Amino acid sequence: MYDANHLISQLHAASKGHETRNFATFPARASVTFGELFAGAERNAAALVAMGVQPGDRVAVQVEKTIEAIQLYLGTVMAGGVFLPLNTAYTTPEVAYFLGDASPRVVVCDPARLSEMTEIAGAARVVTLDAKGAGSLTDSVVGRGGFTPVPRGPDDLAAILYTSGTTGRSKGAMLSHANLASNSKTLRDYWQFTSSDVLIHALPIFHTHGLFVATNVALFAGARVVFLSGFNADQILEAMPQATALMGVPTFYTRLLQDPRLTMDRAANMRLFISGSAPLLVDTHEQWQARTGHRILERYGMTETNMSTSNPYEGERRAGTVGFPLPGVEARIIDQGREVATHETGVLEVRGPNVFQGYWQMPEKTAEELQADGWFITGDLACKDADGYITIVGRQKDLVITGGFNVYPKEVESLIDDLPGVLESAVIGVPHPDFGEAVVAVVVAQPDAAISAEDIRAALADQLAKFKQPKHIELVPELARNTMGKVQKKALRETYAGLFSQD
Ligand code: AMP
Repeated sequence: MYDANHLISQLHAASKGHETRNFATFPARASVTFGELFAGAERNAAALVAMGVQPGDRVAVQVEKTIEAIQLYLGTVMAGGVFLPLNTAYTTPEVAYFLGDASPRVVVCDPARLSEMTEIAGAARVVTLDAKGAGSLTDSVVGRGGFTPVPRGPDDLAAILYTSGTTGRSKGAMLSHANLASNSKTLRDYWQFTSSDVLIHALPIFHTHGLFVATNVALFAGARVVFLSGFNADQILEAMPQATALMGVPTFYTRLLQDPRLTMDRAANMRLFISGSAPLLVDTHEQWQARTGHRILERYGMTETNMSTSNPYEGERRAGTVGFPLPGVEARIIDQGREVATHETGVLEVRGPNVFQGYWQMPEKTAEELQADGWFITGDLACKDADGYITIVGRQKDLVITGGFNVYPKEVESLIDDLPGVLESAVIGVPHPDFGEAVVAVVVAQPDAAISAEDIRAALADQLAKFKQPKHIELVPELARNTMGKVQKKALRETYAGLFSQD
């Protein structure tokens, strides 16, 4: 029976009539149709129930990106379980924290890590799935029959995603069936995805961007995906002439721009390039338009809220901004308890059906950030221009407070980035004996550019108030980023923590 609240029933219903069409194609294996995708998901659901998974039980998954892993996601949620994906880069002690916190019923891991996972899994059943889609999970799925989704209410959990956690322990963001279904359908409509689309899917599936934005939007639209195991410029450029859309983090775009095969001709069939998860440089936006004729559509979201704002599909996609609140989502920018005026900076808050159910087993943290009236304090600093376009200025935790004055890193970074010979920069605050914190700029020069710290200092002198000018400028070959393309400011702060220490 069709369950209108159930995320997977809705995704499955959206694929009706498409059963024999390809959902996923790959560079080097046979395609998978919509019918096969859901049949496999049903077999996974049946296997998980046989392993003891009951409604609300967590299924923790640390595996490579395969279509079998997507079937495991769909199957877990079909079985009433809560899908809990983990970054493949997490070490065993890190995974031990997540398993201890979430106490899953089943753990799925790569066969190479079976013995270490078994040691930390406690009472959970541990099964395996490898990068080719084989393993003891796949064995236990074989031969199972159809499965009717276990009924779920709109607020029941479908997934827990641990946040990347810039400070302290990662928190488990609880996402409901209604959170995920509403956001994916809104994005499908806003970005005009249909069954004619072919989406290049090169994002990881342990993160909201690749798992929910890319996969669920494609499924709700009945679109095909070119399913790549990760970012690979050759494979993306090869797929592009037959594809219509790409979802990426900014580093996808900067890396593709370095490839001379990226041309107007190659991008001629594409209708949409989307970027998010980290800020896209205005320069990248402009270069992309010059090379391909397309304006990248930048959107903003986070694990806790799914997607909240987007540049328009039709209408101006304004570089350096993340556009407007999505339909059904409200956004406001607050400083000292009131909404700020145009161009003023404050903390971005969002409210809507996209906003999560709270942090797993952290009621105090939840109450601090998710207010009783539904507004979620994102922790991102933002401002709005006269036309309502929102710009993300950076994380509140990255704000530098020097001598009692606030310095918004983005303001300094934008000026440095605009200097000839500069590729990009990161501005951080490090401990300073007099000022509390000192502004430090970590800068990457353009290849072959002969720019010095002195040149940068001189160029900023007339443009920035003295307190905003970096007290130290360090030129480095590149900025450390995580897999989602986010500059690791915490690591930078640690690296330069001793710059002004007196001992
Ligand atoms: P995550 O929960 O890992 O998806 O990280 C969410 C955070 O990424 C947000 O709170 C923002 O700080 C950042 N972020 C996401 N999209 C953008 C964007 N388009 N521009 C700037 N920052 C972004």
